[in-house]
Order: sequence, then C-alpha cells, then structure tokens
Amino acid sequence: MIDPEMLLALVMQRAVRVDRGIVYRRYARFRADRWYGGIATADVVGCNLRCGMCWAWRSTSYQLARGEWLSPGDVAERLGRIARSRGFGQVRISGGEPLIAAQHALRVADLLGKYTFILETNGTLVDSKLARELSSRPNIVVRVSIKGATPEEFERITLSPRQYFYRQLDALRHLIESGMKPCADVYPAAMLGFSTDKSARELKRALEAVDPRLPECIDVEYVILYPHVVRLLRARGLRPTRAVSPGGVPAFMV
Ligand code: SF4
Repeated sequence: MIDPEMLLALVMQRAVRVDRGIVYRRYARFRADRWYGGIATADVVGCNLRCGMCWAWRSTSYQLARGEWLSPGDVAERLGRIARSRGFGQVRISGGEPLIAAQHALRVADLLGKYTFILETNGTLVDSKLARELSSRPNIVVRVSIKGATPEEFERITLSPRQYFYRQLDALRHLIESGMKPCADVYPAAMLGFSTDKSARELKRALEAVDPRLPECIDVEYVILYPHVVRLLRARGLRPTRAVSPGGVPAFMV
C-alpha cells in the first residue's frame, strides 16, 4: 500500500520550492495538445497517487527531481505563447497533480484570465477551502478524474487506501457547494478501464447522491495502451477490462 500523504510530502520537499512568496514547481515540457479540441498544455512534475495506468509515469507523475523550476509567471507566459500561436482558448497543467501547492496553479489561472483553465485533478486534495478558491475564479473549469468506479477499484489502481476514493466524490461536493455549476464549471471524469458494468452503475449512483446532474456528464476514460503503459500494467499485475490503442481504437491486452 502507498500512502498519498507520504507522496505529497515528498513532492513538497523535492518538486516544490517557495522563494520570496512565489511558489515554484518543476515542469518537464510544454506542448500544444489535441484534447478538448486543442489546448496549450504544461506537464508538471509530481503526483500524490501512483495509478497503474498513468501515461505520465515515466516522464512526470512518478518523478520528483527532474524538470525545470518555473514560477507561475513563467508557466503562464509559455502557455499563453502556445495558446496565441495556435489560436487555442484553453490551457491546462497536466502530467501530475496541479493542486499540490495549489497557490501555484491558482496564480497561473489568474495570469491567464482570458483563457479557460481546465483544471484536471484527481480530487484528493480539494477541501472546502480550496473549493472556494477554485470557484471564485470564473475562468477555471474543474475536471475531477475519479480512479475506478468503486473504493475497491480505486485501491487496486492506485495502491492507495480506499478511503481516498471518497475524497474524490467529496471534491465534487465541495466544488458544487461553493457555487460551481455541475456539468458546466465542474464535472467528473472516470477511469472505467478496470470496471465492470455493475461497478460503473455503482459509480453513477454515487455521483447521483452528490448531485443528480453529475451522471449526465461523466467523461469516461479508458486505459490507453502506450507501450510504456503496458509495461507498467504488467508490473502491477493489472489487466484492463476496456482499453484503447494509442490511435483511439478499442483494444485488448494480450
Ligand atoms: S492521479 Fe493522474 S497524474 Fe497522478 S498517477 Fe494517477 S493518472 Fe497519473
């Protein structure tokens, strides 16, 4: 079992730095990406989970000491440059958990106020105070990416205690209670690559209990079988029930 609090402390020690009140994080790359119809993307180093299907495990999410130290101003400048040159209206921080040292990501969002900032998070760090900070920013849309459909699947995928599964649901609840509109300002994504039809229905019911609108806007994720992801899945003894090839075609592991 892996302790997310221990991972959080490690990322805070090795991949977050505060200098004269400015929060720096390490970044591995910046890119124009095709998701969301085109989005400027920064890949940040460090995460508090260890998902067994994470596409970023080699480059950023499992890393602690690689990448370039950047301030929110540096990140905003680079994302803005990509967005302008490609005509994108959206920006994001991907590759790791953006809400570690959350003031960093919040400042990036503020500096890029004319763009929609898609905040992709695993949700485990969103308490009511952070939810209020996020909801007070009109350019932020939060996508809470739920790992598995049940606490048991969560534990198998992340190797973290199953009670953290509920933090993801709580994140949605806090954000909605803070004033974010379900399915417009905040929505759930769900990694259902290890789920059964039955467990997927359980997740729908759990989301419905948070807000009846949420089951209508689940962004379903499946495992993408990049070769380095297949290696990780095998090392972790995970076998997806549903997966897609890197080209987006339904696929099965052999
Ligand atoms: S939460 Fe996201 S970034 Fe972190 S390990 Fe899981 S899939 Fe990767």
